[in-house]
Amino acid sequence: MALAAETARVLDLEGLEALVEALHARDYEVIGPRVRDGVISLAPLSSAADLPIGWSDDQRPGHYRLVERGDDARFGYAVGPDAPKRWLLPPHSEVFEAEGDGTGFTLRPAEPPSRRFAFLGVRPCELAGIAVQDRVFIRDDLRDVTYASRREDILTVAVHCGEPAGTCFCASVGTGPRAEDGFDLALTELVGEDHRFVVEVGSEQGRELLAAVPTEPAAEGDLTVAAAVTDDASRRMGRDLDTEGLREDLLGALGSSRYRDVARRCLACGNCTFVCPTCFCTGLVDRNALDGSHTARERTWNSCFTIGFSYIHGGGIRESVSSRYRQWLTHKLATWQDQFDVLGCVGCGRCITWCPVGIDITEEARAIRATAVPGGGAR
Ligand code: SF4
Ligand code: SF4
Repeated sequence: MALAAETARVLDLEGLEALVEALHARDYEVIGPRVRDGVISLAPLSSAADLPIGWSDDQRPGHYRLVERGDDARFGYAVGPDAPKRWLLPPHSEVFEAEGDGTGFTLRPAEPPSRRFAFLGVRPCELAGIAVQDRVFIRDDLRDVTYASRREDILTVAVHCGEPAGTCFCASVGTGPRAEDGFDLALTELVGEDHRFVVEVGSEQGRELLAAVPTEPAAEGDLTVAAAVTDDASRRMGRDLDTEGLREDLLGALGSSRYRDVARRCLACGNCTFVCPTCFCTGLVDRNALDGSHTARERTWNSCFTIGFSYIHGGGIRESVSSRYRQWLTHKLATWQDQFDVLGCVGCGRCITWCPVGIDITEEARAIRATAVPGGGAR
């Protein structure tokens, strides 16, 4: 969505606080970035004062550190380990409980959340992550009630990226650093003496919300500076991924020796899948009372890196770490497109930052492609 002078508004710091208050007044639980446990993670915000004021992040393969910026930017960082997935598809969620009375069971499906979520500061790659998970969980032939009940009434106040991390590559997969759609409001933060936010409206809910807070019309100069923020971020992406022909190259190199090489480094810990905003695999656990009077079914995140994930009668079918890494990489970057008509990676870089041994999906994809032999097969 191009910045249009006739619709864009400008919000100052008081206006940002008023925006959070307006969300609370509409009974949203406001989820946004705050410093916690040495990282910028998503958590409920009581006011705009909770934002990570003056903090940025230094991210490299297997490395994350908070860094002081020396200014009072509210959104001067890239992304933390959490994505909205943590709220829309929680790591643990109840599916149902059942109570027995000696003659039968009464089923009680899980309650939807008591409040709607408003995501403040959600990044363009995270909006893309939500759109990817929508294709998984809200379809004509399947509607996941847990995801849908959390997802359907969300409100998003996105912030276009001005500070990409060293592990980011959204520009090369077309998901950022400027959000084109999928938001209710989108802000570009202009830090400086006249600290302000250029606001774009993306929906009627966004328009109604913005009308409740003090704003000024954006000047032509504001729009130029706002566009420069994301143009500059685009040039400063730490990494890139060439998606042209990627699916065919990866599927043509399933026997690549690079998978054995990466398996020597990979711990099969599953971190990359847990931090990924698009990974959606879960498992079910039943918790039964010993006397048979009560049971609760819980859904928990699962990972294709565990040996049990591919268990079928007789054992797991992906016993080696190389086969599990290959499953993950080729699903993300190749077969996801067959399944959901979209790439399974939005270029957020989390799997690179939070891999304890710094395995880099962009580097591995490049190396695996390089082993492909013309005419089929791989070295
Ligand atoms: S695969 Fe890695 S870079 Fe891509 S969306 Fe998932 S965590 Fe982000
Ligand atoms: S690639 Fe890294 S994060 Fe993923 S399972 Fe292997 S060691 Fe863990």
